[in-house]
Amino acid sequence: MALDSKIPKGPIKDKWTDYKNHIDLVNPANKRNIDVIVVGTGLAGGSAAATLAELGYNVKAFCFQDSPRRAHSIAAQGGINAAKNYQGDGDSTYRLFYDTVKGGDYRSREANVYRLAEVSTNIIDQCVAQGVPFAREYGGLLDNRSFGGVLVSRTFYAAGQTGQQLLLGAYSAMNRQIGRGKIKMYNRHEMLDVVKVDGKARGIITRNLITGEIERHSAHAVVLGTGGYGNVFFLSTNAMGSNVTAAWKAHKRGAYFANPCYTQIHPTCIPVSGDHQSKLTLMSESLRNDGRIWVPKHMKDVEAIRNKTLKPKDLAEEDRDYYLERRYPAFGNLVPRDVASRAAKERCDAGFGVNATGEAVYLDFASAIIRYGKEQAIVKHLDENDATLVKKLGQEVVKNKYGNLFQMYEKIVDQDPYNTPMMIFPAVHYTMGGVWVDYNLMTTVPGLYCIGEANFSDHGANRLGASALMQGLADGYFVLPYTIGDYLSDDISTGEISTDTKEFAEAEAEVRKNIDHLINNNGTHSVDYFHKRLGKIMWNKCGMARNATDLKSAITEISELRAEFWKDVRVPGTQNEFNEELAKAGRVADFLELGELFAKDALQREESAGGHFRDEYQTAEGEAMRRKEFQYVSAWEYKGEPKDAVLHKEELAYENIEVKERSYK
Ligand SMILES: Cc1cc2nc3c(=O)[nH]c(=O)nc-3n(C[C@H](O)[C@H](O)[C@H](O)COP(=O)(O)OP(=O)(O)OC[C@H]3O[C@@H](n4cnc5c(N)ncnc54)[C@H](O)[C@@H]3O)c2cc1C
Repeated sequence: MALDSKIPKGPIKDKWTDYKNHIDLVNPANKRNIDVIVVGTGLAGGSAAATLAELGYNVKAFCFQDSPRRAHSIAAQGGINAAKNYQGDGDSTYRLFYDTVKGGDYRSREANVYRLAEVSTNIIDQCVAQGVPFAREYGGLLDNRSFGGVLVSRTFYAAGQTGQQLLLGAYSAMNRQIGRGKIKMYNRHEMLDVVKVDGKARGIITRNLITGEIERHSAHAVVLGTGGYGNVFFLSTNAMGSNVTAAWKAHKRGAYFANPCYTQIHPTCIPVSGDHQSKLTLMSESLRNDGRIWVPKHMKDVEAIRNKTLKPKDLAEEDRDYYLERRYPAFGNLVPRDVASRAAKERCDAGFGVNATGEAVYLDFASAIIRYGKEQAIVKHLDENDATLVKKLGQEVVKNKYGNLFQMYEKIVDQDPYNTPMMIFPAVHYTMGGVWVDYNLMTTVPGLYCIGEANFSDHGANRLGASALMQGLADGYFVLPYTIGDYLSDDISTGEISTDTKEFAEAEAEVRKNIDHLINNNGTHSVDYFHKRLGKIMWNKCGMARNATDLKSAITEISELRAEFWKDVRVPGTQNEFNEELAKAGRVADFLELGELFAKDALQREESAGGHFRDEYQTAEGEAMRRKEFQYVSAWEYKGEPKDAVLHKEELAYENIEVKERSYK
């Protein structure tokens, strides 16, 4: 099949405007006769459902949680990008577009990204109008902060709860439409198949997770906003329920998948503490605005810290290696996520990890606390040389900025990050790959759309933060509502789609067959047993460092594991009740298929992109080469003058450490 991205002709900056001026529209009276299914009510699906209903379509919205408010989007902490240039620091639509394309390692679809940058400003206006409490400066203007890999401050935020506040905005917009009867909300419903009629997506099969009932739902178009699949790695920062099932079922019905192996590895997560763990926790990237990352310079200090004979805060400045500031002076601690992740892994692989597992580096706020404290003392005409006062004032500023994150860290690790540095390590965070879509956000199945993290459209091999929320809301509020109208304009006389057809019956039978098998299998191992094993294969062989030999063996191992799963999995309980283990079994079955495709994609890409490094970069020379490229491009682009990026001899000596593989056991 030839893929047609349907990118409009013309200069990139005019494409979207021209496109909107020429698409077919559906008049308000006809919209009332058209049904749209939206699966997923996170930021992407929630904003789409609300907007489509506001436009007049009849929307049926589905989520597997007990309320749209619990979508994984709620976890987003750091912020959302928009090219408002409120800081007057040189931002523009072009620069956001450019940074995002570069951040995607030049692998994103540029027309989509330009559109994304264009509508980014509308998102902020829309959300402010909804009452989203973005952080404000003292004078009342919206505040911004900076995220890794860019040199402007364009990230809007609401403390460390940006996703939650944005989701409350989308949720209230949805609720207004639920109240008007324009959205019929199906909570606790899991989509288990797409139904195609005459080649077009015309409905879905769902399981009511409370009663176990299998249901048929029809519509003129189906939209998937079902989130990312980072949980294929078992341990990730995603919500426990995040899964690939909807996207995967769509794939099995003919929707192509793109870039499945592109995964964003986030450098600032709470490190793995042991085998009992089922979830990793993110410490927002925003913390790198003020936190400084370091490990001890000398092995004796690493050992003393691990033995607890030395406290990190007592280690002298000259004995610390602020390795990001040392290697990347232009960006310092705000290098892109892949660079920060890779550097942390390199230091830990070289033996400098500061916790018991050897897989942690420090994120330290001591300097920021003093810097802010002194500033506050000056502002308040107090004694800036009073160390206790300065510390107290500084801690208050840091608390205002990141209080909930610090509290979360303390609850999990039982250490007070105001007084001792946090420990962090990279973890799987976000999946850039997903269902292939064209410029209209339509998949290769006519009438089946995919938005938000579930699609692949805008991110390439993304190494940046604060762009996922932007994409989800751009898709839902400002892009899909136009593009879907163009398609639905052909359906104004179609009438209601019946669910009483052989296509619906066949899809339902397939779903029932799978559930029957899982429930009646009576094997010997739990679902998690298989999921954990899959996660280990994925992390060890398809994670940050990849090579052909490991990827080939991953493909075989995953396919064997899948066969074992179907033969030996044990799902307790019955199908006609609330049975979380059954729901999980279906999701892991799909992860076991996706995992293989993921590894095949990674094998074919003989490149290092985003957070992934293929064979050639796993040598000291390769690593130094890539670092040099990054340093050079960045310095030149932003400062307007080519800068000699050759690393100092001393630096190269430092880099010349053998990069060893480390896996979690
Ligand atoms: C800890 C963390 C912090 C983050 N912080 C930021 C940040 O600061 N800035 C940023 O830009 N990005 C951030 N991200 C990324 C961002 O949060 C996500 O990419 C984004 O929220 C995804 O939104 P979504 O609407 O596409 O999917 P989700 O929010 O995951 O929603 C998926 C929806 O689909 C439903 N669903 C899924 N499968 C089915 C099914 N089979 N049947 C029925 N319903 C289904 C779910 O119920 C849910 O409603 C963060 C991610 C993590 C993990």
